[in-house]
Amino acid sequence: MLKENLKRVEDKITASCERSGRNREDVTLIAVSKTKPVETLQEAYNIGVRVFGENKVQELVEKYEILPKDIHWHMIGHLQRNKVKYIIDKVDLIHSVDSLRLAETIDREAKKHNLTANILIEVNVAGEDSKFGVPPEELETLVDGISHFSNIQVRGLMTIAPFVENAEENRAVFARLRKLSVDIAAKNIDNVNMGLLSMGMTNDYEVAIEEGATIIRVGTGIFGERDYTYV
Ligand SMILES: *Cc1c(COP(=O)(O)O)cnc(C)c1O
Repeated sequence: MLKENLKRVEDKITASCERSGRNREDVTLIAVSKTKPVETLQEAYNIGVRVFGENKVQELVEKYEILPKDIHWHMIGHLQRNKVKYIIDKVDLIHSVDSLRLAETIDREAKKHNLTANILIEVNVAGEDSKFGVPPEELETLVDGISHFSNIQVRGLMTIAPFVENAEENRAVFARLRKLSVDIAAKNIDNVNMGLLSMGMTNDYEVAIEEGATIIRVGTGIFGERDYTYV
């Protein structure tokens, strides 16, 4: 089933890239494996998946310890400051930075490991109360503040679009995130690069690609529905 699902997602990514005149290599597919057992991740690994996304620190660390070391891990969920130390040397990219205090902790922990942490700023584009992320109006101030940390590289922006029936309803959200990233890039802030745009999930990644996503985060479309009963 995994193989067929992946093929279907791959085909849709390719088609979206073609529709929008983009190169397939410019879009990274993250297999969002949260709640799925390591056996399932191993199965995905065996058919070639190397980039996984998790939203809980403990779960990411447990899977990291067991699975092959050439996997690229992405932290896509809300991150508490006291847990940064557990993942700082394990993930390629933290997608969910939305405060100066969190960035400060990431900078401090990165220094201890003598590494530079790659992060995205999570933006609450649609202004939903239930969502984490910085409001668009506060984005520039936050990016400016974070740019002063020596062990952090801001690599771009991320958003979680609202759950909608029709993916087209999120097109404006994705276009807005891209516009914000273009505006920030134009300020030429030190240590700030706006090359990455993490947007689009199972229900709307095709639209997100058409609007410029360079990273899409797909869980259900690859692994099937999640069962939260025992989590
Ligand atoms: C769970 C999750 C996803 C994947 O959602 P699907 O709808 O299953 O593709 C993507 N991004 C984040 C931040 C998530 O928490």
